Amino acid sequence: MSKVIISSLYDSDEFKMACRQFDQAADAINLPEEIRDRTKYPRRCVAFALPIKRDDGSVTVFEGYRVQHNLSTGPSKGGIRFHQHVSIGEVSALAMWMSWKCSLVGLPYGGAKGGVIVNPDHLSEKELERLSRRYMQELLPFIGPDVDVPAPDMGTNEKVMGWMMDTYSNHVGHIVPGIVTGKPISLGGSQGRREATGAGVAHLVKRYLEDMKISVNKATVAIQGFGNVGSETALALANYGAKIIAISDWTGGIYNAKGIDVQKAVKYVQYQRVLKDFDGGEAISNEDLLTLKCTVLVPAALQRVITPGIAAKLQCKLLAEAANGPTTNQADKVLDKRGDIEVIPDVLCNAGGVIVSYFEWLQNRANYYWERDEVMTKLFKILDKAKDSVEAQKRKFKFSRRLAAQTLGIERVASAKQSRGLFP
Ligand code: NAD
Repeated sequence: MSKVIISSLYDSDEFKMACRQFDQAADAINLPEEIRDRTKYPRRCVAFALPIKRDDGSVTVFEGYRVQHNLSTGPSKGGIRFHQHVSIGEVSALAMWMSWKCSLVGLPYGGAKGGVIVNPDHLSEKELERLSRRYMQELLPFIGPDVDVPAPDMGTNEKVMGWMMDTYSNHVGHIVPGIVTGKPISLGGSQGRREATGAGVAHLVKRYLEDMKISVNKATVAIQGFGNVGSETALALANYGAKIIAISDWTGGIYNAKGIDVQKAVKYVQYQRVLKDFDGGEAISNEDLLTLKCTVLVPAALQRVITPGIAAKLQCKLLAEAANGPTTNQADKVLDKRGDIEVIPDVLCNAGGVIVSYFEWLQNRANYYWERDEVMTKLFKILDKAKDSVEAQKRKFKFSRRLAAQTLGIERVASAKQSRGLFP
């Protein structure tokens, strides 16, 4: 028997949600008691005070975290989020999901996640650079290309990864491109990494629509979140012939039954930073976007946006979880009961990002760089294989697709821990 003695450190809606999912999956596969808690709880976490000088000469101290959930199957891997609502509980749930995701798609990584409580829109470019560098500086004793490898998440991007890589490299005295992924191409970033998550989401949507006998060029799509993942998903699906009828960001949404010009929206956001006042359709609220009648709904922003109330009102046929943790446990039950909506669960749906991050890390280590076509072909091959394994697990045990994906991810991590044994 194992006994867990855990403080309330990680206590949060997200962590409880990830733990409930874990418990359900562990029960479903009869995971032995002695391995459960070791597999479930984060291996370690670090909290930092991050003082930075503001442009006006004052100093602000931000709080940041890094949670390394699992280091048993390789270096831990996961993004860094800059958002005003970050908490250590949220970061640990996201780290847990990274563990199952990496394991599900067969990457030699554990899961991790980082975050800073900050609204990056309230920082100047120089302040953002100082904060990014300070974060990496504080992380130095706990990180390395064989220990923990960060990547972008909400509120961070290629530029931030470039500054972090530079900070680490200056510390060790030589360039170490493999310390982070999602870097600019000029610093050892991979072809295709920027669009990888969205391209992966779009690829899986196309594959699932085929299974549902719906032609992608007859599909209508609503996407919440128009950052890296949301915009790249929109571009890729529009490229496949789907009609993007709604998009949104934190300022609100745009609806156009005739289809939104996604390229134009991307250009608009490049200059204006937000979708507000984009003239490609009529205004729509984020909540109304979620419950629009459409073929595919893609939440690509925050977690826990699909509540039981929203789940009951959804009018899509396919829910593609590009965001991490967009559907609450209770909402999941509503969807299971309804039975009329196919769900591509987050750990599968958005895995394209970490897969191409893995490719980037491999290229950095080999100092040998691949063409974009090679990256995309290999990405889709891994996603297809993961999809097939999820579908087989779903059929074999009559699981929901989320349970199938999570049990596969959890099983492999638990098995690695069991094989390694408990030291000392
Ligand atoms: P991003 O910062 O590039 O974009 C986030 C978008 O969400 C922005 O358009 C923002 O305005 C919008 N948003 C924020 N709060 C919102 C709200 N309350 N309502 C509606 N929209 C809101 O972030 P991203 O990298 O695109 O990440 C989006 C999601 O995808 C996150 O859940 C992230 O964890 C997940 N994800 C990202 C990657 C990646 O490679 N970047 C990989 C896997 C999963």
